[in-house]
This record gives sequence, structure tokens and C-alpha cells, in this order.
Amino acid sequence: MDAPSAPATELPTLLEAARQAAQQAYAPYSGFRVGAALLLNNGRVVTGANVENVSYGLTLCAERSALVRAVAEFGPEIRVLAVAVANLNEAPSPPCGACRQVLAEFIEPDAPVLFPVADGVRTLPFREVLPLAFEMNLKQGMTR
Ligand code: ZN
Repeated sequence: MDAPSAPATELPTLLEAARQAAQQAYAPYSGFRVGAALLLNNGRVVTGANVENVSYGLTLCAERSALVRAVAEFGPEIRVLAVAVANLNEAPSPPCGACRQVLAEFIEPDAPVLFPVADGVRTLPFREVLPLAFEMNLKQGMTR
């Protein structure tokens, strides 16, 4: 059975939800306020915003913020059918490598990923956003 896909008509709404979520960002250090919106297989949209920390490495991106919220709210069986990212700085901002890897465990390979680029918004299927996600392929007998 094919995985459900995101209706194309929902993508502009998802992008607007990401823009709205960016308003909630906590970004006192960079001023780079990002929002993300996930369309889930249960039909719900969950948003997140970046949350910075004075210990910079602890900063959480909007995409992971949204995903953590989605799992906390709906459980670990959720599937992400589409992702939209936006920022209030009108800057190009594809999801970072860490967010791509974290999304990989929950997102459908063909799920559209929308993110700002210099001349608008680009949409790519997730499999093109992260073609070689890390996987733990343990050999038999090497489990410890
Ligand atoms: Zn990120």
C-alpha cells in the first residue's frame, strides 16, 4: 500500500503556519527567527519555532521543535507527510543537517519539503533533501 501523500492544496496553508510559528521563536542571540510546520498522517498540522540558548550548541531548530511536539502530542507512530520552513528574516534556510537526519525517521520519502530560497520557496521531496540518511545496520553478532 502506498503511503498517504500531502494534498498539494494544503502546502500554501502549511507554509503560512510555518510563518506564523516563526513569530514564537526565541532567538535573542542570532535574531534569526524560524518556524516549521508539519502535516501529519492524522491530518493535523503541528508547528515549532527555534529556541536558542546562551550555550549555543543547545539551540533547537524549528523543525526538530515541531517534530518533538508532534511526537509528544500524538505518539511515536506519527508519519510526516509534508514540512514547511519559514523565517522572519527573508533569508534562504533549508533544514540543517541535524534536522534532516531527525526527520528521516518520521517522514515519508516523497514528502514535500518547502523552504525559503533567494527567489521564493523551493519544494523538494525529502529523499532529495537527505539522500543518504544515517542508518544503524548492525552486523549479526555485533550488537554490543
Ligand atoms: Zn535544524
